[in-house]
Amino acid sequence: MANSRFSAVEQAFQREPAMASPPAPETSSYYGCNVFNRDIMRKYLSSETRRIVYESIERGATLNNAVAEHVAAGMKRWAMDMGATHYTHWFQPLTGGTAEKHDSFAEPHKHGTSLEEFSGSRLCQQEPDASSFPSGGLRNTFEARGYTAWDPSSPAFIMGDCLCIPTVFISYTGEALDYKTPLMRSVSAAKKAASDILKYFDMGDAEVCSYLGWEQEYFLVDSALYAQRPDLILSDRTLIGHDSARNQQLEDHYFGSIPPRVLEFMKELEFEGYKLGIPLKTRHNEVAPNQFEIAPVFEDMNLAVDHNLLLMSLMRSVAERHKFKALFHEKPFKGINGSGKHCNWSLGTVDGIGLLSPGKTDEENLRFLAFMANVLKAVYDNNGLLKASIASPSNAHRLGANEAPPAIVSVFLGMQVTAAFEELLGTKDMVKIKGKKGFSVGIHQIPELLIDNTDRNRTSPFAFTGNRFEFRAVGASANCALPMTVLNTAVAHQLKQFKKAVDKRIASGSPAMKAVLDETREIYRSCKDICFDGNGYSEEWKKEAERRGLDVETSVPVMFEHFTAPATIEMYKETGVLSEVELRARNEVAWEHYSKKINIESRVLSDLAYNHIIPVAIGFQNVLLDNVLKCKALFTDAEFKKYSLQEVQQIKEIAEHIDKIRVMADEMDKMCDEFSELEAREMAIEYHDKLVPCIDEMRAHVDRLEMIVDDQMWPLPKYRELLFIR
Ligand code: ADP
Ligand code: MG
Repeated sequence: MANSRFSAVEQAFQREPAMASPPAPETSSYYGCNVFNRDIMRKYLSSETRRIVYESIERGATLNNAVAEHVAAGMKRWAMDMGATHYTHWFQPLTGGTAEKHDSFAEPHKHGTSLEEFSGSRLCQQEPDASSFPSGGLRNTFEARGYTAWDPSSPAFIMGDCLCIPTVFISYTGEALDYKTPLMRSVSAAKKAASDILKYFDMGDAEVCSYLGWEQEYFLVDSALYAQRPDLILSDRTLIGHDSARNQQLEDHYFGSIPPRVLEFMKELEFEGYKLGIPLKTRHNEVAPNQFEIAPVFEDMNLAVDHNLLLMSLMRSVAERHKFKALFHEKPFKGINGSGKHCNWSLGTVDGIGLLSPGKTDEENLRFLAFMANVLKAVYDNNGLLKASIASPSNAHRLGANEAPPAIVSVFLGMQVTAAFEELLGTKDMVKIKGKKGFSVGIHQIPELLIDNTDRNRTSPFAFTGNRFEFRAVGASANCALPMTVLNTAVAHQLKQFKKAVDKRIASGSPAMKAVLDETREIYRSCKDICFDGNGYSEEWKKEAERRGLDVETSVPVMFEHFTAPATIEMYKETGVLSEVELRARNEVAWEHYSKKINIESRVLSDLAYNHIIPVAIGFQNVLLDNVLKCKALFTDAEFKKYSLQEVQQIKEIAEHIDKIRVMADEMDKMCDEFSELEAREMAIEYHDKLVPCIDEMRAHVDRLEMIVDDQMWPLPKYRELLFIR
């Protein structure tokens, strides 16, 4: 068995970088060539059809059947010209990731012939046999109808031989069964609410967008070594493994030069990504060995989420070609940094005015402070819900650990914005000078370039970075649609409250700008407790946060309860994002998913311990026993005491670890049986409270054995091998 580990290590160490691809042509010459974008539409759709499609993209207008037929015909011709033979509705079920079922364009006809067909109705709607996707009870399996419906705002694309059509996924009765539907609803709610506020600033016609720029972190592991780790294969993380003597303590990996093998992988990934119109911009080494990051330029949120999911699938397949496995788990290796997916979020107009960017005039700065205050209030009121939106069994390993966001959501504003707000608290009346409407807001101008990198607080889960907020708590494996939906919804809801309050002030005689200013001041006063610029990892902050009434819960299943709290249900209903039934169903899915993940981990760990670790430990124990018995025969009593007692001690230590492992395995087994009768919520809570600690405890014994047992006998690739492959 030991042999297979060594041959995997040998393979991994000796691998040459994949053949360098020929020099890529200029990116612009092939960018987006696999996307049914406006350039391509010009070739395949009539100008009238295009006009209606653009309108649908921009304003969400529905397409009638005749237009759908035209679009389908054009798309089919393009796809076939590109060599595609199949099409699929590409959607985002609650399992995470994406789903697709390929259908051939070929339709069999009479007399043994066939013809390529693709109708408007096939483009617009499909009914995948989706009975096995989680729905939290929204769809009984015998009533297994789920529909996918085309989302014209995210362009179709070609992957391999398949035309992929981004779609939403809904039940027979219209409930959302995916992540895209609520995301799109939340984007509309945020747009509408923000536009309404812009009316106070004479910008009522401005079209508002919600933007997202994600930063995807990931690990790469050589595929031969990966194949030797059943825990990585089955549970996406290493469940055992002793620290490598050297890991990230030298801090030499971050922004270091990219290893040639990895660089070849990245180049091909970018090439494939550009063909799909993903605006990739940045690539670099991350903090941990074998950890990297890739980030595009920010985009319209719906598209950005699709692009992130698309890139994750691309990464998996391109990595295979380079004999790597891409790991998105938030904590694949214990003791070194985990992977996040920072979500840079902002609101802005399509003409490029950032609503979270300070301006040059008083009025622009008031607009900035008003939107900022509303975001702060939304985060303050929903800090527990925002945490729930990023909570998962895998991200739980990052939260609260000393490298990543703490398990408390607070906002880092930076000195200058904080100063502006504090000044606002101090001013009672507006100073009556210039300004378009004869008012100045009475606060000093805020420099446009607010915060340079040195003023950044890396411990904050939600940080203002000059023109956007960076939600850093999102996990690397997550579909960022969920946290972005919560954020859009909370901000939309808050902006609506704001508008009501401002209108009330105006109705009682206050000039509009003064009403906005006064309300902004009040909001900031009421929620400034969400702001925290100190060290988010410290013990004092935990106490202080609790005193401020922020959510300090650390149990993931309990965090999920925020989704069905009365205030959340009301907020989601009022913004039209999800109904109570949908919210409850989603929580069922989340709880079930949590339990299943922990259940799998405990079973994989027990299997590994029984089949891989205990036999090897016994084998090594026998070597020691044999030696000790021989020494006993040879040595005098005094010599035996002097030379062999430590070895005897070690034999006992091994016996002790093996015994503990067996006891834990039995216990975990029993627990899984017991929990199987519980309701989803209770089950997840039990798994969290009782089983997770067992997994950690059992691991400690195995990791200790790894230190004791002869390296030649150890069956699984070790951290130092998994993490330092070039
Ligand atoms: P850092 O690692 O310093 O946080 P990166 O350059 O890795 O920054 O990523 C920053 C991300 O934020 C990029 O995707 C960038 O396009 C995005 N971004 C920049 N401005 C905005 C904005 N106004 N709204 C949303 N995202 C933005
Ligand atoms: Mg970054």
